[in-house]
Amino acid sequence: MSVIAPAEINSRTPESVLQWAFETFPRLVIVASFQAESSVLIDMASRIRADVSVLTLDTGRLPQQTYDMIDRVRHRYGIEVQVVSPDSADLQEMVGRHAVNLFLQSPELRRHCCEVRKSRPLARALTGYDAWVTGLRRQQAETRSQTAVVSPDHEHEGLTKIAPLAAWSKEQVWAYIRENELPYHALYDQGYTSIGCAPCTRATAPGEDERAGRWWWESENEVKECGLHWSQPVVRQ
Ligand code: SF4
Repeated sequence: MSVIAPAEINSRTPESVLQWAFETFPRLVIVASFQAESSVLIDMASRIRADVSVLTLDTGRLPQQTYDMIDRVRHRYGIEVQVVSPDSADLQEMVGRHAVNLFLQSPELRRHCCEVRKSRPLARALTGYDAWVTGLRRQQAETRSQTAVVSPDHEHEGLTKIAPLAAWSKEQVWAYIRENELPYHALYDQGYTSIGCAPCTRATAPGEDERAGRWWWESENEVKECGLHWSQPVVRQ
């Protein structure tokens, strides 16, 4: 890995961070949720490398519009998107023991569902990679306010996590999308500001937090993260 000081990487543009990442990590993958940040990162990466690797987690509960986006992106850039599913034995065990919609029963079961449908499949999918790129931004939530542009991934040993858009605002993301006429997830036009699984995401009202539509039925003290990017104590004090 070419060593660069944190201050230097923080001052680089997202394109420059991606360029550095491609030069530094032979096995680099973009993990895409197909929200607005994914549109930006895939576009930027495709301008640097034609053979960019993209993977996405198909939890089995995604809205149809997310599947539509996967195909639109594949078509536009001519790239493969690795669609990663949960382990079927894990799913059967979880649903059999609890319920199909177990996430409605308690925050603990919601986190269990996210672990089975997201975290474990991601851990399996990252095997064989050196680093992964995520669309995290500091302004998205308090839990993301300390997001580093480049950091060791403590959840996935030996990997590096790269967030080229960490310092970007929502406005910068959408300016890039409009300027470059990128495809974007259709639910944004229906008032959604953050998009995950269909039963766990709703549109937000003006003035609400960007992530207020995620697991909205839970107490405000619950951390609105699925575990992919958050491993701290799960209830805020
Ligand atoms: S967002 Fe909801 S449906 Fe999706 S994995 Fe998490 S709890 Fe399960």
